[in-house]
Amino acid sequence: MSAYSRDDAGSFDVAIVGGGLIGGSLALALADSGLRLALIEASPRLEPDSHANHDWDSRIYAISPGSAAFLEQCEVWSKLDQARLQPVGDMQIWGDDPEARLDFNAYQAGLPELAFIAESREIDRAIGLRLDAQENLRVLRPAICAAIRWHADGAEIQMQDGTSLKAKLVVGADGGDSWVRAQADITVDSRDYAQRGVVANFATGKPHGGIARQWFREDGVLALLPLPGQRVSLVWSTGNDNAKYLLELSNDEFGEAVEQASRSALGKMEILSPPRAFPLRLQLVKQLVKPRVALIGDAAHNLHPLAGQGVNLGFQDARKLAAVLRNRGAQTDCGDYFLLRGYERARKEAILAMQLTTDGLQKLFSKEGKILSRLRNAGLTTTNRLNPLKKRLMQHALG
Ligand SMILES: Cc1cc2nc3c(=O)[nH]c(=O)nc-3n(C[C@H](O)[C@H](O)[C@H](O)COP(=O)(O)OP(=O)(O)OC[C@H]3O[C@@H](n4cnc5c(N)ncnc54)[C@H](O)[C@@H]3O)c2cc1C
Repeated sequence: MSAYSRDDAGSFDVAIVGGGLIGGSLALALADSGLRLALIEASPRLEPDSHANHDWDSRIYAISPGSAAFLEQCEVWSKLDQARLQPVGDMQIWGDDPEARLDFNAYQAGLPELAFIAESREIDRAIGLRLDAQENLRVLRPAICAAIRWHADGAEIQMQDGTSLKAKLVVGADGGDSWVRAQADITVDSRDYAQRGVVANFATGKPHGGIARQWFREDGVLALLPLPGQRVSLVWSTGNDNAKYLLELSNDEFGEAVEQASRSALGKMEILSPPRAFPLRLQLVKQLVKPRVALIGDAAHNLHPLAGQGVNLGFQDARKLAAVLRNRGAQTDCGDYFLLRGYERARKEAILAMQLTTDGLQKLFSKEGKILSRLRNAGLTTTNRLNPLKKRLMQHALG
């Protein structure tokens, strides 16, 4: 590992803009590559003991085994508080007809679990601990970028505090409204779903049994993801008006609404954290790379959360980009366009496939009409009987 030298301050091989889960994991995956790295994050750092004083974070993710393995490679997974992780053994998906159901289980997939439910804050904390331990990485936080100048041999980033830094490659890991993407003039086709993802945690009347449950309903898609103990996390993707209505309910009324919508599968639902809502949109980015720039995570794709795959796609981007940069052979310039095209070629198809699948499902289940309703419910039941198709769907989700 070549140690970061003070003489090099301000001049880097890779500057990662955005230190969320995806940007942070890329920094860790490159930490022992010998590349000089900078990570720029606008928000202040989380306190290392942030999980100790809090209840359960209502922002949770279903982390695929592939993403967990990548986080282990980054030495993050073992730093998570294991008591706050919930393995998922089964996934049960219902249509708007109570008889229509699709099941996936870990035993069929030959795996110990299908996914792990983990809190965003807890993964962020563990990534932060690992970032602190890296010598070859300069973390600028809180720091806000003001402008970029692109040159033939690198880019120069001006910071709001008047300082500047140079990098051969700028990675945009700065989320759905990516500033880097805009600075690089990369176009994005955006479609607002006119829906919000309403999230909250609940104590349940009955044990969840490690099962992730999801209902495709006329008013949206409701998921109850298991947390350790007798708790679950709700993600209810629903129209803006219904989301507004749900957020205005009292705690008891909200619990009753969720219990009813989930057909009382887990008995009485008692809210543990105030509900929050996130706007949902589809974003197709024209290019993942340009000379001197690469996009990863939500900067590179936004999709409906009904398959719980956004952050998993992002971890796969980080893993692939790190592999391309590490295995660049004789190519010394890590901002070289042809090198970066290798990353784009490897990721574009998987990203588009997941976006089209989630968008198609969202459309199919949001349309009203008896014939469509029968078709989609029959589709779920038929898929449930077709083992090869189920296997393919599962392989996709296990990442
Ligand atoms: C309701 C809902 C539920 C979801 N559930 C799941 C799920 O179960 N499983 C799953 O896989 N995915 C899920 N997702 C998707 C997931 O939340 C995102 O894919 C993931 O958070 C993207 O991470 P990111 O690091 O790319 O972006 P972000 O989390 O947006 O991080 C971007 C970072 O960049 C920083 N930043 C922004 N601009 C700048 C700048 N100019 N300079 C410096 N820093 C900057 C920000 O401060 C932030 O820290 C869900 C999404 C929603 C809306």
